[in-house]
Amino acid sequence: MARVDTGCTCAMYYLFHQPVTGDTRARCKPMSSVVLDKVTKVYPGDHLAVDRLSLRAENGEFLVLLGPSGCGKSTLLRMIAGLEEITQGDLWLDGELANHLAPRDRDVAMVFQNGALYPHRTVRGNISFPLEIAKSDPAKVRERVIELSKALHIEETLDRRPGTLSGGQRQRVAMGRAIVRQPKLFLMDEPLSNLDAGMRTELRMEISALVRSLGVTTIYVTHDQVEALTLADRIAILNRGVLQDVGTPAQIYNDPATAFVAAFLNSQQLNLLAATVHTPQNQYVLLDFGPHRLMVPWSDPRAYAISQHVGGRVLIGLRPDGLAPVPESYDGPAFYGRVRTLEYHGHEWLAYVECGVPAVPVPEPPDPHTRANGHQNGSGGLGSMLRRLMRQREEPVTQDEPDGQPQGSGIHRRADLIVRLGVRPVWRAGDAAKVGVDMSRMMIFTTDGARIDPPRR
Ligand code: ADP
Repeated sequence: MARVDTGCTCAMYYLFHQPVTGDTRARCKPMSSVVLDKVTKVYPGDHLAVDRLSLRAENGEFLVLLGPSGCGKSTLLRMIAGLEEITQGDLWLDGELANHLAPRDRDVAMVFQNGALYPHRTVRGNISFPLEIAKSDPAKVRERVIELSKALHIEETLDRRPGTLSGGQRQRVAMGRAIVRQPKLFLMDEPLSNLDAGMRTELRMEISALVRSLGVTTIYVTHDQVEALTLADRIAILNRGVLQDVGTPAQIYNDPATAFVAAFLNSQQLNLLAATVHTPQNQYVLLDFGPHRLMVPWSDPRAYAISQHVGGRVLIGLRPDGLAPVPESYDGPAFYGRVRTLEYHGHEWLAYVECGVPAVPVPEPPDPHTRANGHQNGSGGLGSMLRRLMRQREEPVTQDEPDGQPQGSGIHRRADLIVRLGVRPVWRAGDAAKVGVDMSRMMIFTTDGARIDPPRR
């Protein structure tokens, strides 16, 4: 097979140029499951990028890997593609152990952030290339390219070179080239992050429709929570190479496993407040914020779990849309304060209400290695290296100072509650404010950010 100089690395070359078999072409709903079993990646220089991560993408599923920059998302994707070696753990593709499979034998197509097109080929040539090198019937190739270009709305650009296209058009071509050979698995690494907001939204909807119509298992990397919520069947959230939570968008948004996940999946800032737990005369559970208190009746299914922390401190998570202005006469659960400022967001107003309760920073998730108290992954070799690497990591801020304030440089002493007001600002800056609390939306965490009432899944 003659190679064309594309500037691709050898492994990437195979990802894009894997021959298309008759079988693959004939399959109308190619499907594949992906199983990661305690997969670890340590880069040279002892850099631990992914830490014993176990995850499964079901046949035909659209799984989004979400997390802050540097948390290991791309590394994970590249290990699945075969572009990066797995240091420890197993990767299974369609039930077959794939750790040592060459990229060309994985039937995977990858779309990158920058499109990575062949500059000297036209759009038509870019899309058709994988089929051409597989020596597919030229008439069928032409037909398929036209069909795809229509679906991707780039029909009128077919004879143009990538250099003359907009960023959005280039990504559509890259999608077309990935889709054309109907792989078993799509891997997409932030394919929309170089585009402007309008184009991102448009292409997001189209990717979703196209991928779902093909029924191909897709793993999609993003740091954008809106993209994750709108695209995913399920979201897997990572931080510092560790899987934090996995579930449907609604499960993760409404019922997050940790304070980190709750805060990350939030378009506005999460209100995170420290409270001391009391059970006065055993009549109910009291969350004491200092100037404010909230009562949790024993009939609340979370009360028993909270009461296990009596005398200690817990963190209460309240989303701005779980708080609302209430009249002075309201006798339900509420905070009092004064409106410091209002912020206009177009579709909503947010109020910042000073209520004398300092917000606390979101704790880094508990470190599974140090928390496991002696549980180790292997007794020597890589196991001991991992333990050493984990010890070198920055320790999460979890301890309390004598005055009861969390210590560490990340202390957030802002005494504001962020309250969503909707499209009409019912308050003005300086107003006295009573903030009603939707107790059903309250999330309760330990001081190291783990959920106290277990997620219901
Ligand atoms: P993300 O995709 O979530 O932004 P990456 O997977 O790119 O994160 O990177 C995870 C971590 O691994 C980062 O700290 C990054 O600096 C590091 N890393 C990525 N690639 C390499 C490499 N080739 N060599 C050493 N460290 C790397």
